[in-house]
Amino acid sequence: MKKITIAIDGFSSTGKSTLAKQLAQHLKYIYVDSGAMYRAVALYALQNKLIDGAGLKTSQLINALSAINVTFIYNENLKTSEVYLNDVNVNKDVRTMAVSNAVSIVATVAEVRQQLVDLQQQMGSKKGIVMDGRDIGTVVFPDAELKLFMTASSETRAKRRFDELAVTESKVSFQAVLDNINSRDHLDSTREDSPLYKAKDAVEIDNSNLSKEQQFDQVMSLVNTKLLA
Ligand code: C5P
Repeated sequence: MKKITIAIDGFSSTGKSTLAKQLAQHLKYIYVDSGAMYRAVALYALQNKLIDGAGLKTSQLINALSAINVTFIYNENLKTSEVYLNDVNVNKDVRTMAVSNAVSIVATVAEVRQQLVDLQQQMGSKKGIVMDGRDIGTVVFPDAELKLFMTASSETRAKRRFDELAVTESKVSFQAVLDNINSRDHLDSTREDSPLYKAKDAVEIDNSNLSKEQQFDQVMSLVNTKLLA
């Protein structure tokens, strides 16, 4: 069976990774959460005091890039891959609000992007991959056979993220989550290097009122069309 590349982009918390995981499991493709890679670099910056209230120490972060190794290892129990920073499993640590507040600043640095985009392109060199992020259909895999651009209202998105976070960070308020989503969307769409926008050939999916199953069925019919093409 022919293998394709599926690129999923969109705003924060639009359910990109839920859909990407469903597709990868169903198609037996590799799933890569590119956001987790930017989050791992942001975690490194926080751990090494390269980012604080005064901002990001950009040149120090750039100098440290050769010491930052981001990898994924498949977890059989969870049936998904987890992100590692220098061989340490940081899958949970990258989801904290502290990382969410730092990541979009770190993601503006062109050298960071170059290093991660190179890695992402290597991971996808044999196709059979579903990758989600902000620049997957525009920069990482501009020739992807299927490109999706996901949207949902910012309240719907903040509610989803808030419910997820409630498990680990019960003190975080709904407003703080909404503010973080709005601020990341703004930074991600206005940055100079690889801003978030919908590729011309991407199919837009607004899932504010779609169940996970409805969304999956819609997308699988697009996938099947591409597999038969
Ligand atoms: O997907 P997630 O919300 O975990 O991504 C975290 C952040 O990483 C985004 O808000 C964005 O700043 C950055 N990112 C990016 N390019 C990607 C994936 C994520 O700039 N391809």
